[in-house]
Amino acid sequence: MIIVLFGAPGVGKGTQAEILASKLGISHLSTGAAFRTAISEETPVGLLAKDYVSKGALVPDEITAKIVEEALGRPEFAGGCILDGFPRTQVQAEALDALLSRLGRSIDHVVTIDVADDLIINRLLQRGRSDDTEDVIRHRLGVYMNETQPLLRLYGDRGLVTSVDGVGAVEEVNQRILAALGK
Ligand code: AMP
Repeated sequence: MIIVLFGAPGVGKGTQAEILASKLGISHLSTGAAFRTAISEETPVGLLAKDYVSKGALVPDEITAKIVEEALGRPEFAGGCILDGFPRTQVQAEALDALLSRLGRSIDHVVTIDVADDLIINRLLQRGRSDDTEDVIRHRLGVYMNETQPLLRLYGDRGLVTSVDGVGAVEEVNQRILAALGK
């Protein structure tokens, strides 16, 4: 099963992806986490990604799509994948379709987690990651609105999207997501 978790930065995608992965027995892939690891290990991808991530800008599509392509070829993703933070642009969505079709797979569900912007900013400021300063957060929210949110229409037209209220306790939100997935 291929599940895409959608939502602005700070809605809790990462937390929910992890819980879903353990409940459903499917691996999850966070492109943001992959970049953070690459940056801390100073790999070639990390060196390329560093400036983009620190500014809250999107890492170029080609680099990002490659990370996903490599990951989905690994045995741990044979049973499916929960994608957290990918795709984020039209080009990435097209790359994902092409990749999945080569693998004989397709997206089963897109779940979008909704949280109001002012709550998001407070949550992120509390999280305190190095790209969680107020300016960078606002930039990331703008990027989400301009580049990523429009993809919901594409997936909506395919009948794949369910919206879930992201306000509440982590477990409560998780139950809503499971319900959206028909679990
Ligand atoms: P996240 O952990 O999903 O909030 O991502 C943190 C940062 O990693 C983002 O602000 C981007 O700089 C980068 N990033 C993560 N996923 C992507 C993606 N799909 N496309 C481009 N950049 C990404």
